[in-house]
Amino acid sequence: MRNNANQKSQWQPATMTIHGGKQPDQHGALVAPLYQTATFAFSNTAEGSARFAGEQSGYIYSRLGNPTTNELEVRIAQLEGFPAGAACATGMGAISAAMLAFLEQGDHVVVADAIYGCSFALFSHLFKKFGIQVDFVDMTEPQNVRVAMRDSTKMVFIETPANPHLKIIDIAAVATIAHEGQARVIVDNTFMTPLLQQPRKQGADIVIHSATKFLNGHGDVVAGLICGGAEDIEMIKATTLKDMGATMSPHDAWLILRGLKTLDVRMERHCQNAVKVAEYLVQQPLVREVYFPGLPDHPAQRLMGTQMHGSGAVIAFELKGDIHHARQLLDNLNLITIAVSLGDAETLIQHPASMTHSPYTPEARARAGISDTLIRIAVGLEAVDDIIADLEQAFAQAFATTKTEQQQGETLTYG
Ligand code: PLP
Repeated sequence: MRNNANQKSQWQPATMTIHGGKQPDQHGALVAPLYQTATFAFSNTAEGSARFAGEQSGYIYSRLGNPTTNELEVRIAQLEGFPAGAACATGMGAISAAMLAFLEQGDHVVVADAIYGCSFALFSHLFKKFGIQVDFVDMTEPQNVRVAMRDSTKMVFIETPANPHLKIIDIAAVATIAHEGQARVIVDNTFMTPLLQQPRKQGADIVIHSATKFLNGHGDVVAGLICGGAEDIEMIKATTLKDMGATMSPHDAWLILRGLKTLDVRMERHCQNAVKVAEYLVQQPLVREVYFPGLPDHPAQRLMGTQMHGSGAVIAFELKGDIHHARQLLDNLNLITIAVSLGDAETLIQHPASMTHSPYTPEARARAGISDTLIRIAVGLEAVDDIIADLEQAFAQAFATTKTEQQQGETLTYG
């Protein structure tokens, strides 16, 4: 029986997504067994107390550890190039568990100014409530991080490419500044996956994922993952994960293990499709601006081949017109689904100002440039000509119908 749990980096990432972390199974099952159990029986009291005391290895209770989730933790850690991983109930559970394990009242955190809406809400509202100070800065200029750092800065949080404009942050440049001030660097790598970006190589101390997205890839799980050094992951597991309890269910871990096996081929197709959709949007006369790391004039190109190894499949674009056109465009789509996720087989589209970034205050949204006419599309795996044809007919209809609304003199601005 083969045990790939200690396999390091001899295999290519595409092979690791299939074989990494594989634990031996007594029956030789090809696929990781699903240990759908809340608890684990002890053969006697001595064994139970020895496990609780940490004197004997073995499982106790699934909030503390489970063989199926453990296999996923090992696999994601190997893919990200870290010694250890932790599986969480959601991406937000991963961010909060990874950060709160190391923060206390009076500490300061520097956060990138354009991030996922609920991450923004966590830092700007909840952290404040517990006396953790937060500064949001534009990290596309790394020196802004230096200016924001204080003696009390314990963490620097980066999302790159950043929601929703696909802004790119130079992780190595920010990490150097953060480490000079003894702060941990935490990177949300959801948009890229470890196949397109491994932030540890640029100096990240902790990487988190919303595994809900590309890693699972099939839209049937909400989950999060953390990767880091062995001591950091042990600390997270022993504190915030154990006692706040946002651990992953074994069934979700099993589904993500299945999804991961096709990550390499899915990412290739996602990226190919996204490039073609972005090229279509660039030449669409009703689009003012397209934000996509795969376009030749995008700032991401400077880091392509070093920090990034692909464009990802999330595109944001600015419509000409107003919020009516934005709504009409989405409401007239037939194939593309209005939904707030990304990384699924289905192409999903959403309106950040009224959906993912609605937790921002109107002022914060304006500062981050999240206008009423900004649209985000997460390109899926369908035949790309069908995706483009659906957009084309929706553009035509949106700009035909909204003329009437404008003539009626209705004005509407979200927020
Ligand atoms: N990070 C990013 C970049 C996201 O887009 C999201 C969700 O959309 C999250 C974190 C939160 O993940 P979850 O929804 O799995 O909690």
